[in-house]
Order: sequence, then structure tokens, then C-alpha cells
Amino acid sequence: MKIFHLSAECYPVAKVGGLGDVVGSLPKYLNQAGHHASVVMPFYNRKFTRENEFDIVFEASTRLGHRRYDFQVLKERTNKLGFELFLIKAPGLLDRENVYSYPDETEQFIFFQLAFLDWLTWSQQTADVIHCHDHHSGLVPFLLYHSSLYRRLSKIPTVLTIHNGQYHGAFSWDKFNYLPEIDATQTGLLDWRGGINPLAAAVKCAWKYSTVSPSYLHELTIQSNGLEYLFYIEAQKGVGIINGIDTQVWNPETDPMLFNKYNAKQVDKGKQKNKEALCQRFRLDPSKPLFGFIGRLVDEKGADLLPGIIRRSLDDHPDEINFLILGSGDADVELQLTQLKDQFAGKCDVFIGYDEELAHCVYAGADFLLMPSRVEPCGLNQLYSLRYGTVPIVRNTGGLKDTVIDFGDEGGYGIKFNHDTIIEACQAIKRAITLYQNTTHLQLLRKRMMALDFSWDKSAKEYINLYESLKL
Ligand code: ADP
Repeated sequence: MKIFHLSAECYPVAKVGGLGDVVGSLPKYLNQAGHHASVVMPFYNRKFTRENEFDIVFEASTRLGHRRYDFQVLKERTNKLGFELFLIKAPGLLDRENVYSYPDETEQFIFFQLAFLDWLTWSQQTADVIHCHDHHSGLVPFLLYHSSLYRRLSKIPTVLTIHNGQYHGAFSWDKFNYLPEIDATQTGLLDWRGGINPLAAAVKCAWKYSTVSPSYLHELTIQSNGLEYLFYIEAQKGVGIINGIDTQVWNPETDPMLFNKYNAKQVDKGKQKNKEALCQRFRLDPSKPLFGFIGRLVDEKGADLLPGIIRRSLDDHPDEINFLILGSGDADVELQLTQLKDQFAGKCDVFIGYDEELAHCVYAGADFLLMPSRVEPCGLNQLYSLRYGTVPIVRNTGGLKDTVIDFGDEGGYGIKFNHDTIIEACQAIKRAITLYQNTTHLQLLRKRMMALDFSWDKSAKEYINLYESLKL
């Protein structure tokens, strides 16, 4: 099958979060299974695009409202990522450094989608499936089926994967003129609560949609920033497929970013060496358990709870634990965490920013990884943490619910708590401290975690089954 993945992110080209990890790995595994999967994304002026070679495979111009923009489709020359990578470059619109947060983001992503459809149409290509990821490519299913411009492509099945249902990419009807001519009787499909809502349009128009965990599929009907009813009425089209991880990139035995590589047999010594290196860098105490956090500092991740969790835990256990936080986001949370770093020097340190290499070192060097998430569509951090023998401490929600079994239950390995409160998170930390003191039990759990299989092999098969089910 020939499958195009459309995404705003793809590791290692441009990654902000889990979307980048998934789009950077799933296509590789689909290709290994004998399919032809490629990735199409906007061009970003970043390290990867500067340091690699590309061929121009298509050039044209496309109208966006009253303006026309030239664009090129660039193809990475070597296919070294394990799939064909196509970048849509449009000077003045799709040629910037960052992935998100420009004031004309709506225009950027609409243009990306129009250019993709024009490229396919004018270059006489076809596909067995177009797989859209999140709202950034959410208008594609609607345009394919309801614009005469793309009639040639209108039989191609589309799938939408929702990596984060809180973001919809909604914009006002004032910008309707950015879209090409469409069937006027179908404009209602674009609408949700009086605006053009790309995520809602994709849920309505894609042949199927998936979420990145089964629990999240259900949770979207309860909490999805206003789309709850839509998810409820479209439920028969939805399927939950848990993300896999790229076990070639995330492997403590071969990971070039680690201070010390290790496997399950040497996990205790191996992790300790990584912890010592990390503690030396951040002036922490390697003889005490290290609690890490990696992620966007936003309410969804429960980041606003972190200062309270750290303060209370260090008050209750002043000489027993260390914290290391890596992330960026909400300015107020960043400020509070930075203040804690001064208040609890030697026990808590904070790195504000995005650092892929440091993230790998934290997964390897921490004893516990905190995830007090309010919403977690899948969560990759806990999967990486399990792979590196680090006990995840997670709130029981979304993908965390589906992938972590509490060590108190049969065959379990992680620590779970139910409510997004400082008290419950601190109780979980207390359990972790007790666990840490029982070396034999901790060793057993580390080995158990590292033996788990969250590779793409199983989940990629589920996507293939989903694509197969769409065959006409
Ligand atoms: P999200 O909702 O942010 O997509 P996921 O758990 O699905 O959350 O994926 C997060 C990914 O981003 C993981 O690969 C994690 O290691 C990475 N990540 C998040 N924040 C940072 C950071 N500050 N530095 C490095 N990597 C980060």
C-alpha cells in the first residue's frame, strides 16, 4: 500500500513532542512490513534541513486568499530515515525555524495542505491512503471529497490520527476565502460552534479516525475542548491504537547520547553511572533517589502541580530525595521552578528549555519519572522510561492508564495515582522512596520493565489492519 503521512512534526527533522516521535518512526516500520509509507511536512529552516541534501521534485504556485505563493516540494536525497521525506517549502510562509506559534499559523497550515493536494493532483500521483495527523492536516479529508479541484483524488481513503484533541486549529469564517472552490452545500462539515474547525472537519470527513490509546478514545467524549458531542456521535469511526516506540533510537544498550550504555543485566550499575554523571552536572546527590520530569510545562501535563509536589516532598523528606526537571512552557511555572532551584539547591535542579540529549540522559539516570498529567493521549515518556528501567509515577489517565500497571498489582512495575492533586502525587513519591529502599524489589521491577515490549511491531500491524479495512 502507498501511504502519505501528513504532519507538522517528524523526528529528527522537527520535533516538539510525541507527534514528532510517532511520525518519525511509524512510517519506517510500515516500510519494513513491505508498504510504501512517506512523510510530507512543511519545510523548516532547522539543523536537519541545513545539514542534509534535498532534490526539488516539484514546483508550482498556489493561491491563498488574494495572494499566490510559489512553493517547492523537496525530497531528502538518501531516504536515510527509513522513508521518503518530502518538505513543502514556500518562501515567506513555509521556510521558518519554529514549528508553531507564528501569528499566521492558520495561513501556514492551510497553505501546506493546499500545496500537498495540488502537488498530488498536478503530478498525477495517487495513494492508497492519506494519513493525516492532528488538526494541521485536518482540512485535507474535507477538501479531497468536497472540492472539484481535487476530484481526481476523491476516492482515496483518509485516516486521521489524533495525538492531541485539545488543539483544533479553529479559525473564523472570515478566512473562508483561503479555501479553494468547494461544494457550497457541504460547508457545514467545516463548522463547529460557529467557526471553521479543522479537527472537527477531519473527524467528520475522514473515513476513520484513531487516537493514540484506547482510553483516550473514550476520554475525548468527556473532555476534548468542546468536541465531546462530535466524538460521541462519530464514535463508530474511531479506534484506539497505542503508540509504539522506535526501539532503535531508544535503546539504552546502544544510545550514543548516554554517558554509560547498559542493558537489563547491568541495569543497576548502568543506571547508577548515568545518575552520577547527571548529578554531577546538576549538583545533586547520587546516593539518593532521583525523580525526573521531562515535558512541556503546561496544565495538561500537570506541570502547575510540580512546584507544590517538589516543595511538599522536600519538606516531608528533606534529606532523602532529589528532583531534576527538564521542560519549558508556562512562564509562571518556569519562574516558580527556577525559584525552587535556588531554595532547594543541591536537592532540586531545573533545566528550562528543550534538549533531546539531556532527555535521554534523564530517562537513563533517574530512578523515577514523574507524570502527574491531567490529559495524556498516549504519553511516550513513560514508555521510554520503562525501556530505560526507570519506574514511571503516573496519574491514571489516557495512555498512562493503558500502559502502566502499578507494582502493587500482579505483574506490575510502575506507580499510579488517581487524582491530579499534590497530595496524591506526594503519596506516590512516598511509595517510591520505600520501594527505593528495598533494593531487591527495585532490581526485580527494573528487569521486568526492561523486558516489556512497546516496539512498533504490534501497533504498526494495527495501523495496517486499519488501512486494509478501508480498501474499496
Ligand atoms: P506531548 O504531549 O508533549 O507530545 P508525549 O509524551 O507524547 O507528550 O511526547 C513527549 C516527547 O517530547 C518525548 O519524546 C519527550 O522526551 C520529549 N520532550 C518533551 N519535552 C522535552 C524537553 N524539554 N526536552 C527534550 N525532550 C522533550
